[in-house]
Amino acid sequence: MNYLQDARQHVLQKIRRACEHAQRAPEIVQLLAASKTHPSESLREMYAAGQSAFGENYLQEALEKIEALQDLEIEWHFIGHVQRNKTKNLAEKFDWVHGVDRLIIAERLSNQRGDAQTELNICLQVNIDGQDSKDGCSPDEVAELVAQISQLPKIKLRGLMVIPAPDNTAAFADAKNLFDVVKEKHAYPEHWDTLSMGMSSDLDAAIAAGSTMVRVGTALFGARDYSK
Ligand SMILES: *Cc1c(COP(=O)(O)O)cnc(C)c1O
Repeated sequence: MNYLQDARQHVLQKIRRACEHAQRAPEIVQLLAASKTHPSESLREMYAAGQSAFGENYLQEALEKIEALQDLEIEWHFIGHVQRNKTKNLAEKFDWVHGVDRLIIAERLSNQRGDAQTELNICLQVNIDGQDSKDGCSPDEVAELVAQISQLPKIKLRGLMVIPAPDNTAAFADAKNLFDVVKEKHAYPEHWDTLSMGMSSDLDAAIAAGSTMVRVGTALFGARDYSK
């Protein structure tokens, strides 16, 4: 086995163990490979190892990889900060956008999604632990945003995405509560199925709290080198 294959098996095993520990069915938790800064050849290798969902943070870098890997059946997720003037490429090239935190962004994504394309999957990003510097709507805005975004024709609002401060694993339980409260009131609860939380260093805690999608970079690809 090569390094990436090995790393992926290791992460999948970690997910399985965390699920067992939490008495949750392991197939409920999806692994999203957070591949920012890693070259397309690494993604291709990870794909060959069985990974088909990849998350990217920087639009230009992502577009280059999407182009280079168009022969593969990759599910592309955008997990970076969404800028209002960059929505067109996101709407057209991605399958999922996790960082939606305002109505205007969701409206633009819906308008710019191609007529022939299926609905764009999105998560609402919530600043669950009130960090000053963080993107995301506040928890008390969620109910209204869900009601509004659910009306948009080319959008499928799947759930919530959170990035709590490092070591604030207690915030995962708050996110799960919020997720459940919305699901109870949701007009289409079966569409509300995704709680995107947990990264390399805190995926056990996120899964214990109810994550359905962990976004893992370092544990799959190794450390990121921003100097390259
Ligand atoms: C980079 C990134 C990750 C992965 O982080 P690791 O600690 O490398 O696993 C997850 N989510 C988001 C939003 C990221 O930007």
